Amino acid sequence: MDFELSPEQHAFRDEVRAFIQTRLPASIQERLRLGYPPTKQDIVTWQRILNERGWAAPSWPREFGGAELGQMERLILLDEMYRASAPLPQLMNVVLLGPVLMKFGTPAQRDYFLPKLVNLDLWFCQGFSEPGAGSDLAALRTAAKREGNHYVVNGQKIWTSNAHQSDWVFALVRTSTEARKQEGISFLLIDLKTPGITIRPIRSIDHDHILNEVFFDDVRVPVENLVGEENKGWSCAKFLLGNERTGIANVGLCRERLGYARELATRYTQGGKPLIEDPKLRGELAVLDAELRALELTNWRFLLTDSAQQALPAFASVLKIKGTELQQDIAALLARLAGPQGLELRSGDDRTHGPLTARYFHSRAASIYGGTTEVQKDILAKAIVG
Ligand SMILES: Cc1cc2nc3c(=O)[nH]c(=O)nc-3n(C[C@H](O)[C@H](O)[C@H](O)COP(=O)(O)OP(=O)(O)OC[C@H]3O[C@@H](n4cnc5c(N)ncnc54)[C@H](O)[C@@H]3O)c2cc1C
Repeated sequence: MDFELSPEQHAFRDEVRAFIQTRLPASIQERLRLGYPPTKQDIVTWQRILNERGWAAPSWPREFGGAELGQMERLILLDEMYRASAPLPQLMNVVLLGPVLMKFGTPAQRDYFLPKLVNLDLWFCQGFSEPGAGSDLAALRTAAKREGNHYVVNGQKIWTSNAHQSDWVFALVRTSTEARKQEGISFLLIDLKTPGITIRPIRSIDHDHILNEVFFDDVRVPVENLVGEENKGWSCAKFLLGNERTGIANVGLCRERLGYARELATRYTQGGKPLIEDPKLRGELAVLDAELRALELTNWRFLLTDSAQQALPAFASVLKIKGTELQQDIAALLARLAGPQGLELRSGDDRTHGPLTARYFHSRAASIYGGTTEVQKDILAKAIVG
């Protein structure tokens, strides 16, 4: 099979590239290129620009404000954003929650939430994991008891990314303990301003504040915020988690970061010579480049061939494992190239690069979120051995 882009796909890529070049604010681009994570404001600003062009929700149908792009076009859009050091559309709103509301939501939920999700007028976070319920998510215990027109929610979520700067959380809650554990779970939308919610930060080793604990203490949630049927939230969750696949390999991100590593290696010197002249480093860059190309081709094969799609979820696990490893290897290389300067956490003066050691530490989390590497390997082993 030929994996070259079609003339139409080439034209689409050129169109995307030109759009990003003219519309992406230079200040955002420069900060991300240096290795700083995007701020909430960066993401809001860029997503609204994309929304004006109809590209903020690449996979959504047009009737809901999406771009209705095919798999390859979505990948092209994503890769071009990475390539230009642009923030991506907000994952929780666009990739995770939006499609769930389209499939399981009521017309009122769709009408109210979807336009706000795509324009980032509301910012959602994901409240799934709990202490004791991560890989084994169905073990979750946060309880929602029906009282008249409300659910009363009690319990705790953990590792909730960006809860402190979110407006709402979509949460899995336990509404029954009678049947199998997967059958007593419901999917609720909860306004984080509701009384009884406490958000506590978890500082990570990269000194960033992304993660949080979220506590629910007699939190009253209107029943109209239930998505799908009561006790059928597991179906919503499975559908939601299956929707991350197009970008799961993170090829664009790896390519952009590898390009930046090459740039630093060209600029920095040792013993009067640019680092890039060191044969060992050149070899390392070449191997990463080759592995990345192999991952890219595998990703295309996955998206373009029906048999690969049918081999799910094993194929998606390959992409997740390999993409994560490359992301971590490249982040490690960048931290090494930056040397002691990379140790600065939030360097404002040094504009050569951002906190690359902190970004390396952050990259370690990639083999935990979105399904740990060990769990992906279990899936793979089952698919191979049966
Ligand atoms: C940076 C970051 C952001 C996150 N953001 C969110 C978020 O926004 N919302 C949210 O809900 N959650 C979030 N999470 C949580 C994430 O989904 C969980 O950490 C993940 O599912 C693993 O669960 P756990 O931490 O409970 O570890 P556990 O499931 O307890 O795993 C502990 C160890 O045991 C291994 N293990 C577990 N089960 C098996 C098995 N069956 N076979 C082999 N090995 C196994 C794991 O691989 C791991 O090494 C985030 C996590 C991180 C690190």
